[in-house]
Amino acid sequence: MSRKFALTVTAAAVAAFLSVSAGAAVKDGTFEGTGAGRGGPVTAAVTFKAGKITEVKITKQTETAGVSDPALKKLPGEIVAANSTKVSTVSGATLTSKGILEAVNNAIKAAGGNPADFKAVVPVKKAGKKGTETVATDILVIGGGASGITAAVRSATQGKKTILIEKMPQIGGDTQLNAGTLIATGSRYQREVMKETKDSPQLAYKDIMKVGKYRNDPVLVKMTTENAGRVVDWLIDDLKIPYGPAATQYPDHSANRQLGVKGRSVNFLHLMSGIFEKNGGKIMTDTRAEKFITDKKGNVTGVKARLADGSYKIFNTKAVILASGGYGANRALLPKDVKKGLFYGLDSDSGDGLKMGRAIGAATINLDLVKQYPQGVETTPHHGLAATASSTDTIKKSGAIYVNTDGKRFVDEMKGLGILTDATKAQKNSIMYIVMDKAAWKQYVAKSLEDKLVASEDDLNKWAKIVNNGRPVMATSMNLAEAAKKMGINPAGLQKTVDRWNGFVKAGSDKDFGRKTLKPLTEGPWYIVEQKVRFCTTLGGLKADANMQILRKNGKPIGHLYGAGCVVGGANGADSMTAMMNSWAIISGAVAADSAVKSIK
Ligand SMILES: Cc1cc2nc3c(=O)[nH]c(=O)nc-3n(C[C@H](O)[C@H](O)[C@H](O)COP(=O)(O)OP(=O)(O)OC[C@H]3O[C@@H](n4cnc5c(N)ncnc54)[C@H](O)[C@@H]3O)c2cc1C
Repeated sequence: MSRKFALTVTAAAVAAFLSVSAGAAVKDGTFEGTGAGRGGPVTAAVTFKAGKITEVKITKQTETAGVSDPALKKLPGEIVAANSTKVSTVSGATLTSKGILEAVNNAIKAAGGNPADFKAVVPVKKAGKKGTETVATDILVIGGGASGITAAVRSATQGKKTILIEKMPQIGGDTQLNAGTLIATGSRYQREVMKETKDSPQLAYKDIMKVGKYRNDPVLVKMTTENAGRVVDWLIDDLKIPYGPAATQYPDHSANRQLGVKGRSVNFLHLMSGIFEKNGGKIMTDTRAEKFITDKKGNVTGVKARLADGSYKIFNTKAVILASGGYGANRALLPKDVKKGLFYGLDSDSGDGLKMGRAIGAATINLDLVKQYPQGVETTPHHGLAATASSTDTIKKSGAIYVNTDGKRFVDEMKGLGILTDATKAQKNSIMYIVMDKAAWKQYVAKSLEDKLVASEDDLNKWAKIVNNGRPVMATSMNLAEAAKKMGINPAGLQKTVDRWNGFVKAGSDKDFGRKTLKPLTEGPWYIVEQKVRFCTTLGGLKADANMQILRKNGKPIGHLYGAGCVVGGANGADSMTAMMNSWAIISGAVAADSAVKSIK
């Protein structure tokens, strides 16, 4: 695995001398403890010798691969080095870090010790030599998601000295969470292996514009569809990235054009960062771009970046490719109606690039648009779990229904996600609820476990204890009216709706909304789970031309500044087809690099 992606264990220079004799109460031996991580329980086996922690091993965990890696790799060593659980959580993997620390505390208890005895404060790492170092490079890429790593490889393989800076402890961004799909339009692979001959840039253009509700920037859609083929050929034929036809060809595409990478995007990032480094590229993690440096004409000549130790680096560059992702995690930048929704992306989506671009006069497009989905569950304030598959599957296979706060149905539950999103937004407080009987709940649990939404049924049951704005996330009772009351739904209204639904099932026809699958709601326990609108990917951003050069408000390009991926808005309009966000990131990254390389020849 690439050195930078799998972040080496850099046990902080923490003080072993801090080991305290107060910990002597623990028994010698290895003891297990469990804590709650981001994706479920985290179990640690902790070895004690003479009152000190000598080893921490994570033995069980279901954390998101990629995102959680730095915490899983770094924290155990730091805890041992400090003989303390008072070590800092790892930025970008805070919940996993907390899970590990809780697990170790529980192991201390299991060994007969007191966690308070292992709380010696670890001195904060001394800031390195403060000051500002200057580094010269041909091309600087800001951000290590799909767009940034693609741009970096494309630039380094054309012989340009390229540095990629990433503000987090590891590269990956939102990309590490996605499946790794990509459109194959116009590629050799599509023609020869997928045997698809009816696809064309024009057909893909039509599909993208339609799904984007024609809010797309046509220049960028054309650029994407015309360049997809050569970028795919480069990835598969030249770089040997293991793409194959995607397991599911979603129907929003009117041709057979969806590819999937083996091992999802986590593997793509790993392979691409390896190729980048083999070609002389340099990845600098924990390095956050803060502002562009410009000349008198306003053209970009460099970037000022802050390192984790508080020092700064000035990158003097011939060209910059901004690939810093979206702004979904920055509520101040979000449109009013979107703020109410649940965010399910990463904290790194803080809109740094958007702010940096605006600060030097870049134009923006579609800042009001984000990709929204239904069926989010607010498990931490403003953050949600994407429980779409659990709800969709349950609706398909049981009599579960969606209702609003009045207890009334308002949509055919089998409709597509876009319709369900709009229907949810039209209800009081923009919320709907899934109402499940015993059989439906069984289905919901099974699908949630299959998809690793949660680690156990117990985790789902814990939702009943989460309260947001005075309302629980989930209510359960043997009595339907009581469950409704707990949830703030009109109990009489809900009873009437369930009776009416069961009447439709008996008669074989849903007279209200025409739902095709008809199964009754019968016996309790009843479960009601909130279904809120959720979002992650922002669709607006800085405006770019067909070369991916960032534009000023007067429509003229900013010298030496290129953009790629989510930081650039408009390509996907008001909504994106399946695979299109990742495709956009990769294709725009390659085109931005080609333009940057050409500009400095
Ligand atoms: C859960 C989830 C599932 C998804 N599933 C799909 C899917 O199936 N198909 C699909 O097409 N799309 C999907 N998406 C969307 C897709 O993943 C993103 O649109 C795409 O990965 C964006 O790539 P990017 O390179 O623009 O940004 P990112 O991958 O987010 O990378 C941006 C990088 O820039 C870094 N950065 C930010 N600011 C700075 C700074 N100041 N200095 C240095 N570095 C900085 C960030 O830390 C980050 O690593 C999904 C997204 C999520 C969250």
